[in-house]
Amino acid sequence: MRAVVYPGSFDPLTNGHLDVIERAARLFDRVIVAVAPNSEKHPLFTTEERCKLVVGATRRLRNVEVRAFDGLLVDYVRGCGAQAVIRGLRAVSDFEFEFQMALMNRKLDERVETIFMMPKDTYTFLSSRLVKEIAQLGGDVSTFVPRNVGRALLKRMQPSTPMRRR
Ligand code: ADP
Repeated sequence: MRAVVYPGSFDPLTNGHLDVIERAARLFDRVIVAVAPNSEKHPLFTTEERCKLVVGATRRLRNVEVRAFDGLLVDYVRGCGAQAVIRGLRAVSDFEFEFQMALMNRKLDERVETIFMMPKDTYTFLSSRLVKEIAQLGGDVSTFVPRNVGRALLKRMQPSTPMRRR
C-alpha cells in the first residue's frame, strides 16, 4: 500500500491544488490531504471549513482522504503509514523554499521522501492568495477554483447586512 501526504494551507483549495491531488491519486493507493491550521497566516477559512471544501471537491476520488494536521510533518507522515510527501511546484520561485524544506525534512527523517509535482501549465499562475485578492475585489474566480469553493468565497465576501436604524 503506497500512501502519500499532501500538506498545505489550502486557504482555499484551487484548481492547481486539485490538479496535483488528481495526479497523485493516479500514482498512489492513498492520498492524504493534510490541512494545516497556519494561524500565523490569518486564514480566510477555518481549518474545518478548508477541510470541508477539499472533501467537497474530491468526493469522486475514492483514494483521497482529508484530515486536519498540526505538528511536525515527518512525524505525521510516519503516523499515517505514508512513505512520502507531495508538494506542488509552479515556478522557479517556489523552488528555493520547497528545496530547503524537503532537505530539512530528510534530515529529520530520511525515510520520508518528498515528491514534487507540476500542475497543468494553465494552473501554474494560480495561488490561493491571488484568488482571495481577486474575490475580495469582486472579481470572477470561477475558472480558478472548484465550484463549491467559488460558492464559499462568494458567501464569505458578501458584505454583512447593514444594521437598521430605529
Ligand atoms: P503552503 O501554505 O504550505 O504553501 P498552499 O496551500 O499554498 O500551502 O500550497 C500547498 C502546496 O500546493 C504547496 O506545495 C504549493 O506549492 C502547492 N501549490 C499551490 N498552488 C498550486 C498550483 N496552482 N499548482 C500546483 N501546486 C500548487
